[in-house]
Amino acid sequence: MLAGPTAVGKGTVSADIRRRYPQVWLSVSVTTRPPRPNEVDGVHYHFISDAEFDRMIADDELLEWAVVHGRNRYGTPRRPVEEQLRTGEPALLEIDLQGARQVRRTMPNAHFVFLAPPSFEELERRLLARGTEGPEERARRLLTAREELAAADEFDDIVVNDVVTRATDELVSLMGLPTE
Ligand code: 5GP
Repeated sequence: MLAGPTAVGKGTVSADIRRRYPQVWLSVSVTTRPPRPNEVDGVHYHFISDAEFDRMIADDELLEWAVVHGRNRYGTPRRPVEEQLRTGEPALLEIDLQGARQVRRTMPNAHFVFLAPPSFEELERRLLARGTEGPEERARRLLTAREELAAADEFDDIVVNDVVTRATDELVSLMGLPTE
C-alpha cells in the first residue's frame, strides 16, 4: 500500500507503474472530486456522485474511505482488492494517511510504504508547478501534507520520490516483483 502527502507524485508514480509495469495490479479508487482534464473515468478514478458514495458506504462496499483535504471523499472499493489478493498476487493501493490507518486495522499484514518528497520545499514547488489548484486549495493541501509527513515513521518503508523511475523501481521491488 502506498500512501503519501499531496503532490508528492503518487499519481506520477502510478502512471509510471501503469506504463512500465502493467503486470502490477493497481486499485482504482472512487472519488466525489471532479475529474482533472487529463483524467479518465475508470482508469485514474471512478468519478461518482455524493449519493453513490453514500450508498457504497451503507452497503459496506468500501475497504476504507476518507474525506481528503477537508473536501472531497475518496475510497477503495473492497471487492476488486479482495479478488486480487485471492489470486495470491499483490495489490497496490494508493491512498492517504487516514485510509492507510483504516486498512492497518482491517488488514494488519499489509505492507505500508510511505512516498516522501525530497523536502517540504520541493513538495510546495511541485504543487505549484502542477497548476491544478488555486492558492486557497494549495494552502489547504500543504497543511494536510505537513501532518502527513510527520506520520512517515508509522510505515514499514519510506520511498523518497526523487526520480520517478527510481522510486517506482524501489516500490515494485518492495512488492516482491521483478524490476526492469
Ligand atoms: P487527488 O485529488 O490529488 O487525486 O488526491 C488527493 C488525495 O486523495 C491523495 O493524497 C490521495 O492519496 C488520496 N486518495 C486517493 N484515492 C484514495 C482512496 O481510495 N482512499 C483514500 N483514503 N485516499 C485516497
